[in-house]
Amino acid sequence: MAREVDMVIRNGTVVTAEGSRTADLAVEQGRIAAVERHLSPNLRAVREVDASGLHIFPGLIDTHVHLNEPGRTEWEGFASGTRSLAAGGVTTFFDMPLNSKPTVTGRAGFEVKAEAAGKRSLIDYGLWGGLIPGNVEKLEELHECGVVGFKAFMSDSGIDEFPAVDDAYLWEGMETAARLGSLVAVHAESRWITARLTASCLSQGRTTARDYEASRPILSEMEAVQKAVAFARLTGCPLHVVHASSARVVRLIQAAKDEGADVTVETCPHYLTLTTEDAERLGGVAKCAPPLRSREEVDALWEAVADGAVDTVGSDHSPCPPSMKEDSEGNIFRIWGGISGAQSTLNVLLEEGHHRRSVPLETIVQLASTNPAKRFGLYPQKGTITPGSDADLVLVDLRAAWVLHRENLYYRHPHSPYVGRSFRGRIRATLLRGRPVYTDGVLEGLSGFPSSGEPGGRPVGRRCR
Ligand SMILES: [Zn+2]
Repeated sequence: MAREVDMVIRNGTVVTAEGSRTADLAVEQGRIAAVERHLSPNLRAVREVDASGLHIFPGLIDTHVHLNEPGRTEWEGFASGTRSLAAGGVTTFFDMPLNSKPTVTGRAGFEVKAEAAGKRSLIDYGLWGGLIPGNVEKLEELHECGVVGFKAFMSDSGIDEFPAVDDAYLWEGMETAARLGSLVAVHAESRWITARLTASCLSQGRTTARDYEASRPILSEMEAVQKAVAFARLTGCPLHVVHASSARVVRLIQAAKDEGADVTVETCPHYLTLTTEDAERLGGVAKCAPPLRSREEVDALWEAVADGAVDTVGSDHSPCPPSMKEDSEGNIFRIWGGISGAQSTLNVLLEEGHHRRSVPLETIVQLASTNPAKRFGLYPQKGTITPGSDADLVLVDLRAAWVLHRENLYYRHPHSPYVGRSFRGRIRATLLRGRPVYTDGVLEGLSGFPSSGEPGGRPVGRRCR
């Protein structure tokens, strides 16, 4: 008797970290049931999708997102944020412990956020716990709740209720995380260097984007990374350095890895695309910390990517209302630091990496899906396309050229430094466990998907007991 599955996707080019090939995919109960050049004609499917001419990537895993719910939902929120992520090919994201209110620095903060995410997230999610001064005794309960790791700031976070750790708190937090078998992620900039140079700029009335860049030099990142790496080695705590803005930071981490340190490094699409000149031209919408760097730094960062020295790419989507992106006197220091970019990660990697620099598609999959899945224990359930893995898939028309307009953005506040940019590579559909969470011309005619468009995201990792 002919076997029947939920869906067959025929003739797409399936891209994983290992390589690319034309294949048919069978999906059953939300998982990949088979990947074969030609599935047996005896295999019947409830839904048939013709993916000829399309590339199929594993869903992106964005481990660095601030959706600000609860407490600052007017900045973004799970509903709008996850819709944007899905439109950008992301099927799993990790929400940072700050910008939401309360912060996720203890069980109560975790529970209220987990409830909100469970009700409104369109895609799968994990929650970061926070490491702040004085909450080291809360890390164990956060770990029991199922946080994906602990995030700490080594310099001012911009959020009063999420202060930076001093060296002793970072040390204690890393010792505790190591004992729990968890991981610490650091925003690595020197609080001393950034504070002093910021004060110096402001006292001299130097308030442009270029002055802002000068107030947070690469040296400041290198200093903080050196310290965090030393602590990681001495405590045995796995370390993840987020949003490295320069290849010089990445190379420091590479050297530590070569000596056996358990450390990984993330960069963001904006550091792989935008420069200080863009920051000057675009204004507040392109302000972030660490700041955008020079064209030479962008090129050097792509070289580090090509060498395999960068582990992950995360969006660091950190949105805010438009009023916080402006200052009447043009003082960039007074503007909220954070780029809205979660919807554009794959587009930036494809345009800047694949089309302009011939970076292999396999490398892009590694950075945005496979490596995050491996680092955070989700592989091979996620991060690849293989029998048994979740059918988290992105269907992309690699050659389709288009321009990003504000109307294309699903953010609560549709501003982004990428508005007006042209991209080659259009996302035609995103599927979460076999169910479409975004469609653009593909899958639209298919009926019968249960509650398509309804929030169906599930927590990854352990659940709060
Ligand atoms: Zn961030």
